[in-house]
Amino acid sequence: MDLGISGKRALVTASSKGLGLGCARALAEAGCDLVMNARGADALEAEAERIREEFGVKVETIACDVTTTDGQERILDLASGPDILVTNAGGPPPGQWSDWTRDDFIAALDANMLAPIALMKACLPTMIDRGWGRVVNITSQSVKSPIAVLGLSNSARAGLTGYVAGTARQVAGKGVNINNLLPGIHDTDRATSLDKGVVESQGLTMEEARAQRQSTIPAGRYGTPEEFGAACAFLCSRHSGFIVGQNILLDGGAVNLSM
Ligand code: NAP
Repeated sequence: MDLGISGKRALVTASSKGLGLGCARALAEAGCDLVMNARGADALEAEAERIREEFGVKVETIACDVTTTDGQERILDLASGPDILVTNAGGPPPGQWSDWTRDDFIAALDANMLAPIALMKACLPTMIDRGWGRVVNITSQSVKSPIAVLGLSNSARAGLTGYVAGTARQVAGKGVNINNLLPGIHDTDRATSLDKGVVESQGLTMEEARAQRQSTIPAGRYGTPEEFGAACAFLCSRHSGFIVGQNILLDGGAVNLSM
């Protein structure tokens, strides 16, 4: 299928690894020029070069922290009015409800609520002026089924979901579509670090921890960044104009909301 977005300019934050990288690669395969971001410059530049070579698109990079105001300004300066925005940042650490401090909550809100909101607020006016734009926010299955040890993530992502539910409907008539993609467990560094958390809390081996987490997924496996990226590219395509303000689970069936 031709996604109809060849030549569009896409900003994908937190995209040197994992799900953000999966999205960047799928958009490049569809012919988009990219602005990619992460804190670590080496992995970022290496992946950008791989994309340039494989897909022949223009890729610019900006190594900075997307959760800070300064980082957001630097990213937005480089991206200057993208057609497509994919927001992403690292997820908060797991823990216990009784341990989380105000500072922990502020950090989670900065990363997983206020950064994507700031990027949307900055990018939406140009998309509206052009009469076309696509925004995909990478959130989490915890939006539909909160995960006890990820209370910081649950809280911040609930705030972003509420913002998108209203904003998506305010801009839909201008040719701009905002949706959220909700990953279940995907095979990335983040999943490995959460596997390690299970190892430490339950005294299991890595293999046992992974088998335990896989057994919660009807598909019987973790998702891949490639599958995730393909879904993101479709949501950014010319075919997605009637999909507005949705929270779309990619979780191998883990969350059962069929009824
Ligand atoms: P990942 O494999 O750990 O990759 C994270 C990427 O984000 C890296 O490129 C990292 O590069 C970059 N990054 C992290 N913090 C950043 C910051 N402050 N500023 C700029 N870039 C930053 O993680 P992932 O699995 O792709 O997860 C992506 C998001 O999906 C996270 O919010 C995660 O909580 C959520 N999620 C993931 C899963 C899963 O199973 N994988 C499930 C549910 C939700 P640098 O470290 O160099 O900055």
